[in-house]
Amino acid sequence: LPCAATADPKGRLLVVGATGFIGRFVAEASIESGRPTYIFVRPGSGFSPSKANAVKSLQDKGAIVLQVRAYHPCPGFNENGRNLHGLINDRELMEKILKENKIETVVSVVGGAAIMDQVALVEAIRAVGTIKRFLPSEFGHDIDRANPVEPGLQMYKEKRVIRRMVEGYKVPYTYICCNSVASWPYCDNTHPSDVLPPLNQFQIYGDGSVKAYFVAGSDIGKFTVKAADDVRTLNTSVHFRPACNMYNMNELAALWEAKIGRTLPRVTISEEDLLDMAAENDIPRSIVASFTHDIFIKGCQTNFLIGGPKDVEVGDLYPDEMFRTLDECFEDFVIMMEKPADAEAVKAAAPNGTVEHITIAAKCS
Ligand code: NDP
Repeated sequence: LPCAATADPKGRLLVVGATGFIGRFVAEASIESGRPTYIFVRPGSGFSPSKANAVKSLQDKGAIVLQVRAYHPCPGFNENGRNLHGLINDRELMEKILKENKIETVVSVVGGAAIMDQVALVEAIRAVGTIKRFLPSEFGHDIDRANPVEPGLQMYKEKRVIRRMVEGYKVPYTYICCNSVASWPYCDNTHPSDVLPPLNQFQIYGDGSVKAYFVAGSDIGKFTVKAADDVRTLNTSVHFRPACNMYNMNELAALWEAKIGRTLPRVTISEEDLLDMAAENDIPRSIVASFTHDIFIKGCQTNFLIGGPKDVEVGDLYPDEMFRTLDECFEDFVIMMEKPADAEAVKAAAPNGTVEHITIAAKCS
């Protein structure tokens, strides 16, 4: 393997999208690992209090904030007035940022609406020629294997375009396939770990028997950062499959019932219901419905074996490392429910509401 593709564990790492849901976990983990961690603040994107807090919290922990004063924003604002595009789709500017700051590793965590903005970022990485590892915005399923219905499929098609571009340009890469973030998998919410599991009734997808993997946000960050300079993950997909966190909907409901000490009624959301929600093409709700269908009806996280030189599994890479259990993550929700004030402090410290890192073996046999 070319040495140049092994990033220095203390080398400079840029998180693109550090103020986002998954991005904050990655940025926090990078800072915790002791790497010089760079993030940027985009001008003109409706600087909201929550974004300002996110930036300040990361800066207080040691992130180096790049105030980007000039870029050529593209039209495209969401309903909150946030600019969906701009910055990483300015190739010249990205080249300058990467060169001037001597960045070695780039982790992109841009949201689903900005996947194609990475085209210019990849061009810049190629032009700079010194980036030792690029992790494009994936952070879900293996997008070459999974085939959700539309409109989710469109996002996968875009993520596939970025993969083929990276491979074609021979940019050293790692694809993070971390499966589901640990929380109740609402079929209409893009960031379900921001929301308590149900308190009135459960919606169970299909017969509730199809399993999925759930990973704490902090673990998504931790293992992403470890993988980012690991020679064994060069040009591979890294799969997160903690056996201890493999649950189906019925088991998930039982786990939450045990936490809150009461049982809740169950309502079946059939395959057809999910397909109907997806067909409404109400973005992003319908995208989540199509992924929910893929996970809990088709079994896209569990219906293939990992093997071959292009796939590695976190448990095999880091057998001594720990995953937080789903049980512990659900305990955090109980704390959020019982002590909202404490929960606010917890959330400010860690966006997934993680209280402390109580750990158990990754290979929890
Ligand atoms: P968010 O929408 O929460 O955050 C997006 C981030 O990207 C923000 O920091 C935003 O900056 C930044 N950004 C967007 N466009 C640009 C651009 N053109 N230039 C520079 N920065 C930009 O993203 P998510 O965390 O929801 O999604 C990240 C990835 O994780 C996606 O690939 C998504 O599919 C995946 N995901 C996986 C989940 C799972 O359960 N496994 C759950 C949710 C997402 P700004 O603040 O300035 O707008």
